[in-house]
Amino acid sequence: MRRKVFVAGHRGLVGTATTRALECASENYVVLTRTHQQLDLEDRDATFEFFQKEKPDFVVVCAAKVGGILANSQLPVDFLHQNLRIQLNVFDAAYGSGVKRMIFLGSSCIYPRDCPQPIKEEYLLTGPLEATNRAYALAKIAGVESCRSFNKQYGTQYLSLMPTNMYGPGDNYHPEHSHVLPALIRRLHAAKVAEQPSVEVWGSGTPRREFMFSLDLGFAIRFLLGLSDNVFSTLTAAHVAPLLNVGVGEDITIRELAEMIRFTIGYEGELLFDVSKPDGTPRKLLDVSRLHNLGWKAQTTLNVGLHAAYEDYLKTLDKEKK
Ligand code: GDP
Repeated sequence: MRRKVFVAGHRGLVGTATTRALECASENYVVLTRTHQQLDLEDRDATFEFFQKEKPDFVVVCAAKVGGILANSQLPVDFLHQNLRIQLNVFDAAYGSGVKRMIFLGSSCIYPRDCPQPIKEEYLLTGPLEATNRAYALAKIAGVESCRSFNKQYGTQYLSLMPTNMYGPGDNYHPEHSHVLPALIRRLHAAKVAEQPSVEVWGSGTPRREFMFSLDLGFAIRFLLGLSDNVFSTLTAAHVAPLLNVGVGEDITIRELAEMIRFTIGYEGELLFDVSKPDGTPRKLLDVSRLHNLGWKAQTTLNVGLHAAYEDYLKTLDKEKK
């Protein structure tokens, strides 16, 4: 039987990847999507009406207000309230229409700022959060708690995934509000075209981050949706914290990342580190052993992924010019 899967937020980075991965298995899944214009998930009535009409079997919640370190510190109200509204509406409407299995996308920034590395799922709520994205993190932690509460009270199978830093086709290349990897692709490409002698990289270059190609996350989601009820329910049983890290298991410094991007793009100028910009969390590497034990591992190396991401950026530029 083909399952109807509603991918909320299918135009974003993770939503694009999830939709592609599920569409590659069209014998098992029918993918249901709505653009923001067609369905505003902050509108409670519209969201309920949609779920009642479509009655999806599964839901993957990729819709969220997301952004990089600067956007998070400048717009905390937007990050907290928009995400809470989307989550409340989607969880309530999904439960109300009988959705049994749901995957809610969070982020590795929900973990305490200074927790031991690599970060295990059980470190959630064991210490203070990183200040630059606390509002966003708290909204996502509320989402994890919603999963846990629905599973406990109603026996649902709602699971939160905590992906590491994602990049890939459909990324946000905004010069200030994007994450580091797309921001550097944009800036280094512009510097190459303009033959600039140097490029600015924010912070000291020493923070460490883990980067995962978005299509790998799409395939992880497809893998999880395909698990049998017996296995999936071990992840969402009432007594367990329903969250699972998704990452590649290795990290690099921002300086190393900038060098790799420089190589991918073929930019020969210098990298200048602007220490007046925030560094954020010193390190963020996820422990992915739970996911590995289920039988899934990421396939795309950073080198291969960066080339694909750069190609995608060039296509985006072409579209902007037309
Ligand atoms: P974070 O992982 O939540 O801290 O978010 P980001 O992806 O925005 O930033 C990661 C790291 O990259 C931080 O140490 C930033 O200071 C650094 N960084 C270097 N250059 C840039 C840039 O152009 N944009 C962004 N967003 N971060 C940058």
